Amino acid sequence: MTVKELACLLDGRKYGYVITDEEQAEAKAANLVVAYGYSDDLLEFEGAICDEVGAYGGVTAYLKKGELIPEPSCGVEADECKLYQEFLSTAHKMTTVWHNGSGPCWTILTDIPHETFNIIEDGETVSVGIVFRAEDAMDKPAPPPSYWAWYEETISNPNAYEWEYGWRCSKCKSVLPDEYDDPGVPPEFLYCPFCGEKMDAEIAKAQADNYIAALEKQTGETSNE
Ligand SMILES: [Zn+2]
Repeated sequence: MTVKELACLLDGRKYGYVITDEEQAEAKAANLVVAYGYSDDLLEFEGAICDEVGAYGGVTAYLKKGELIPEPSCGVEADECKLYQEFLSTAHKMTTVWHNGSGPCWTILTDIPHETFNIIEDGETVSVGIVFRAEDAMDKPAPPPSYWAWYEETISNPNAYEWEYGWRCSKCKSVLPDEYDDPGVPPEFLYCPFCGEKMDAEIAKAQADNYIAALEKQTGETSNE
């Protein structure tokens, strides 16, 4: 059974009778996942993933390794936990959108390749569900690292040339205050205080080391003259 075949099979199903037990078993055997918004507060998963997520007003679920990632159980708010956010950066996002206006109540947005199907009540589509392959919900490649970048620029203005330099965030381009303006000393911030991005300490250190090496070479050449 393929994604398309299962989506075709489920298309037009009545609300409350979306998938039979046999079809669930078949979907599971084929490593397919069915997901749809249900009632006014649920995101349902059937097949290779069998789960239910609270979705009142809409919800974003995350998937890795073909599985649903549970909310962190440590008690820290997911938005505030840097480690969890870093973990999510290689996860697939699945946002279930609740619509108050006309048309279906639920639709799903995701970067996982999928086919859609309609769930019907009283002749109207109430929810647009999706079918996808569990192996298409594996980890995404990690985004490139962000780091403190030493920059030096001349900025021309009508009166004079200005010399701008400092350590700035490679992601948001915010510049650290003057007290950090030493190209030989990489900033110690592990996270950008402006955008919250995790900074790769090795990249900044390599720049500082290069700067010092270049300086030493220059000094050596000068003293040899
Ligand atoms: Zn930043």
